[in-house]
Amino acid sequence: MTPPGTPEHPLRVAIVGSGPAAFYVAEHLFRATDRTVQVDMFERLPMPFGLVRYGVAPDHEKIKSVTRVYERVAGREGFRFFGNVTIGTHVQVAELAAHYHAVCLATGAQTDRSMGIPGEDVAGSHAATEFVAWYNGHPEFVDRTFDLSAERVAVVGVGNVAVDVARILCRSVEELATTDIADHALEALRESRVREVVMLGRRGPLQAAFTNAEVKELGELAIADVRVVAEEVALDPLSRAELDAADDRALRKKVEILQGFAERSAADKARSLTLRFLVSPTEILGEEGRVRGVRLVRNALARSDDGSLRPRPTEEFETLPADLVFRSVGYRGVPVPGVPFHDSWGVIPNDGGRVLEDGAPRPGLYAAGWIKRGPSGVIGTNKPDAGDTVASLLADADAGILPEPGPDAHAAVVALVAERQPRWVSYDEWKRIDEAERARGEPAGRSRVKFTREAEVLELLGR
Ligand code: NAP
Repeated sequence: MTPPGTPEHPLRVAIVGSGPAAFYVAEHLFRATDRTVQVDMFERLPMPFGLVRYGVAPDHEKIKSVTRVYERVAGREGFRFFGNVTIGTHVQVAELAAHYHAVCLATGAQTDRSMGIPGEDVAGSHAATEFVAWYNGHPEFVDRTFDLSAERVAVVGVGNVAVDVARILCRSVEELATTDIADHALEALRESRVREVVMLGRRGPLQAAFTNAEVKELGELAIADVRVVAEEVALDPLSRAELDAADDRALRKKVEILQGFAERSAADKARSLTLRFLVSPTEILGEEGRVRGVRLVRNALARSDDGSLRPRPTEEFETLPADLVFRSVGYRGVPVPGVPFHDSWGVIPNDGGRVLEDGAPRPGLYAAGWIKRGPSGVIGTNKPDAGDTVASLLADADAGILPEPGPDAHAAVVALVAERQPRWVSYDEWKRIDEAERARGEPAGRSRVKFTREAEVLELLGR
């Protein structure tokens, strides 16, 4: 048989997930203009776009305009969207695979990494990823509650997610009210009594994971003063030598921004945001079942075997009082039933996107995005990453090693989904949801007011 990809024998690919990685995989597949492809995308939520919709902060609206690219992909002939369908629950991966030449998992990293210290689960200590999902109106997090009567909040970690969380806590309601933040979050933040947010970095300023634009923005907040501890942003000799040797302008700029914060005199804004460095939480302290603070150990940096500078605890401790704690130490992938998973890394083992089982590629099974490489990089990082996976897939198609789908697979998938999940949502239906959300936002000058519950969406669709 000739390799799939002709009008009579299209290359059929299922993509699981509908975030950036998923759409870039689809885009790369459609870009192979010498082939006819059929792409079906499966998403467990009724609405597409994954982390662009549920991860990007509401006050970073511009970043979300990347969905226009995804909309163009969705408009390509041969594209179908099956929302509200969970692969591994409604349809198993093996059942899906029987209808396609290839299945590509782009399920992202849906949970948080744990710190492994006492007190992580005490009431008032939350994963930052849950707070993010809540303020972005993720249907599974709508009913979470966060006690914003807290005056002092500790945010563990100094990555871009920690920055997002700290910034949202330091924005005024007026600033947030023009965004697409979920209405329930806007109402809760209206009552917020948060006055002080403290971000905690376990290493020094040079090693901070946030990017320059994001940390610079913290110095421009309307109602919050940014603060640092001068000794903590002064580089230790090892970091200084590393910076001098690196010849990296962005790194130099990052240190400059942070050291610049030390020179500011406080403007007496209503809130304060302090960036701490070289401290690690050793325990989240509770009292009467509620968070009351974080026990911190001061760190020194030392060179590790892999050459990087790692934190080493000293004998110096302090207690930071806090009424609310957000742990922002990274996302983590979750296994998809029936698919190999590397438990300690939280990713699907793969070689160039080819899923490995017992060290060998399983024909027709691929991975892309965070579930392939771990939760790192910005949205655009997923584009070349997806390209790499699609290159492997097309090479396998040309080599004739992809399994053949069953007869009438294109129609059979619709029947299978309709039988298992009658409440599935098509792309045309998503467009109606999108339109309705935009219309709801218009009177208040907001880009949209999100639907956050499946029932609301189904009612809108008359289902
Ligand atoms: P991240 O960039 O990996 O940052 C995780 C932070 O947690 C680091 O500061 C890390 O410190 C710290 N950490 C890890 N384990 C810790 C522990 N046990 N105790 C104390 N601190 C610990 O992850 P993220 O912030 O979740 O972001 C994920 C990805 O999304 C990143 O690539 C990020 O840039 C991206 N993102 C981008 C934007 C944007 O572009 N605006 C917004 C949000 C997210 P070490 O460095 O010492 O490990």
